[in-house]
This record gives sequence, C-alpha cells and structure tokens, in this order.
Amino acid sequence: MILVCGGAGYIGSHMVRYLREKNKEVLVVDNLRTGHRESVPEDVPLYVGDVRDMSFLKRVFSNNQIDGVIHFCAHSLVAESMEDPLRYYDNNVGGAISLLSVMRDFKVPNIIFSSTAATYGEPKTVPITEDLETVPTNPYGETKLAMEKMFKWADVAYGIHYVALRYFNVAGAYKTGKIGEDHNPETHLIPLLLQVPLGKRKEAYIFGTDYPTSDGTCVRDYIHVMDIVDAHVKALDYLEKGNPSNTFNLGTGQGFSVKEIVDMTGQVTGKPLPTILKERRAGDPAVLVADNKKAKEMLGWEPKHSNIEKMIASAWLWHKNHSEGYYEQEEILCSFKWKRRQTENL
Ligand code: NAD
Ligand code: UDP
Repeated sequence: MILVCGGAGYIGSHMVRYLREKNKEVLVVDNLRTGHRESVPEDVPLYVGDVRDMSFLKRVFSNNQIDGVIHFCAHSLVAESMEDPLRYYDNNVGGAISLLSVMRDFKVPNIIFSSTAATYGEPKTVPITEDLETVPTNPYGETKLAMEKMFKWADVAYGIHYVALRYFNVAGAYKTGKIGEDHNPETHLIPLLLQVPLGKRKEAYIFGTDYPTSDGTCVRDYIHVMDIVDAHVKALDYLEKGNPSNTFNLGTGQGFSVKEIVDMTGQVTGKPLPTILKERRAGDPAVLVADNKKAKEMLGWEPKHSNIEKMIASAWLWHKNHSEGYYEQEEILCSFKWKRRQTENL
C-alpha cells in the first residue's frame, strides 16, 4: 500500500489517479487546507488530518500496511513565505519531521518527496545540473533544502531511503479534464493566463520585461503534471530495487519566456490575450531550465506529455469546464444534498 501525503492537492491528485491506473493500492492523508476532497477518487481511502499530528499519523500507519510514502504536503507560495517564514518552516520541515519519525517507528523503508527548482536560487549556469550550488532566494526554497538535508541524515541514522525530486514549473491536467489545478489564491502563470479567456480577468500581467533574456521576460521550464507523477513511480521502483537515496531534476530541458507562453495561450484558446507590463516580481530568477539527463539515465524517465502547446491545451480543458474549480462541484453536491465524498475515521 502506498501512502500519498497531500494526495488531494494539484499534483497529489494526479499521482493518486496514475497509481490507481497501475492497479496500485493507495491511501491519502491530507488536511484539505489547499487540497480538495472531491479530487480524490471514491475508491481511495482519504484520511483527513495533518502530517504534523504524530498521533494521527500513527493511527493511519497502524490501520494500514504501508510499504512506501509519496510526500507532497507543503505550503508553496514564495511571496507568502517571505512574509511568514516560520509558518513555512513549521509546515514543511515540521511535517517532514513527524512523517519521518512515524516511518522510522513503523519501519517503512522508502519515501519520494517534492522538492523544487527554488532550491537553486539564482543559478550561476543553465541548464541546471543537480550538483550546482543551492542558494535559495526565499524561505520556501530554504525549507525544501532543509527537508532534503534532513532526509539525508534520516537515511544515515534510520535507513529510510529517499528520492528528492526537484520539480521545475508544473502545468497541465489529467487527460479527462476532470481534475486539474485549483489554487486559491492562484499565482502560477498558466492558470492565471487562462482566466483571461474565461472572462475572470481582463488582462494578463507580465512581471518584468528587463531580464537578460531574448525578449526581456523570465524563462521557465514547464513540465506536464503527468510526466511529474510518472517520475515518482519510477523513483519508487528505483528505491525498491535497492538503489541508494538520490536527488533528480524534473524538467524538459527547454525554456519558454513569459511572452512566449502568453502568445501560445492566445493561440490555444483562440483568443489573443491583452497584456499589462508590470514590475519584476520579487525573488524571480531570470532563467530556470533543468538539465534532466540524470533522471533520464538513472530512472529511465522521459517526459512524454510536455509539448508546450499540448500542455496549455490540457490545462485549458480542465479550466474551461471548471471555471470555479472544485468549489463549483462541491456546491452542486451540497445543493442537491448528494452524498459528499466519504472520508475514513480513525
Ligand atoms: P497543493 O497545495 O495543491 O498540494 C499540497 C497538498 O498538501 C494539499 O492538498 C494540502 O491540503 C496538503 N497539505 C499541506 N500541508 C499539509 C499538512 N501539514 N498536513 C496534511 N496535508 C497537508 O500543491 P501542489 O502544487 O500540488 O504541490 C505539491 C508539492 O510539489 C508541494 O510540496 C510543492 O512545494 C511542490 N512543488 C510544486 C510545484 C508546482 O509547480 N506546482 C513546483 C515545485 C514544487
Ligand atoms: N508570471 C507573470 N505573470 C503572472 C504570473 C507569473 O509574468 O501573472 C511570471 C513569473 O514572474 C515567473 C513566471 O511567470 O517569471 C512563472 O511564474 P510561476 O508563478 O508560474 O512559477 P515560478 O517560476 O514562480 O515557480
């Protein structure tokens, strides 16, 4: 049985679907702070609680035979982390401390967890290889780096093996368009751009036009959420075969500027986007592009869904059918007094 912590969130809910497609037994722990109960399939047990709550976690581990853990729980808004860093250390590092403690007590051998390109800060060279210096420019990135280091020492002391996956910019949605990204507030570029053709925003904002890039806007490496979750399955397999703990970048190796993404979103939706040029957003590095050779070679991973136009189209399929995200779905359920998705009691 695989425990997916944060399995009601954006990436976690895609992870759960993908594991079920592969006939893996899965259970979810989520406190639903940014996740949505309706994103978890009915046939997957959902335990609503906080990973920092060790007695809750112990009950989950006692009631289930857990063989491996995939950990997505975190606060992950850069700007918010600048305003309230202790909240970020508490949730991100605190959550990992209690999860690792319980894994140690229950002798669960393997964990895959979400790290981020934000651990690199402003990279000295691009594409970014995993051995590059890690100097985060914000508390969010610092908490993820602290987690990586803590996992390393937990491996040395307790033999819990880990894979840290440093995601670049995750985008897109599940092929059916039934689950997707639903953050409130939304800060990510692609879902924000899609709010323009949905009529929820008048213009797209471009943060900074004086970066040292070909068109002056920031360059990022966008990777489809299904390629991200596929890497987790391969990482778990890698550990189960007895390979040592490791850290991998997850990106395509190709960068797109904000202006290019704006243009492509206009093409995909058939509605060119009016834009407003804004000041730089604090803490944004100019270019973040992954060198993904290590994941390709050692995990046998290959991004298959990350063509940029198809990725925007897949996000668009979700957003145009769920302009209010899961909220709409939950409202409909409530108004018809249908049964809401069941959760597990402990
Ligand atoms: P998300 O907010 O949609 O998902 C996180 C889930 O974890 C949510 O369902 C939330 O309710 C749950 N959660 C948070 N803290 C918890 C706690 N203490 N106890 C129980 N549940 C808790 O975020 P996401 O976009 O799916 O990101 C998942 C992970 O990937 C995060 O760790 C994030 O830092 C990392 N990441 C995301 C991106 C991206 O582009 N989305 C990029 C790099 C890294
Ligand atoms: N961005 C932008 N307008 C927006 C949102 C984001 O220009 O409305 C830019 C942002 O400054 C960054 C890039 O788009 O350079 C990607 O931002 P996002 O928040 O999606 O991901 P990040 O790279 O911060 O993880």
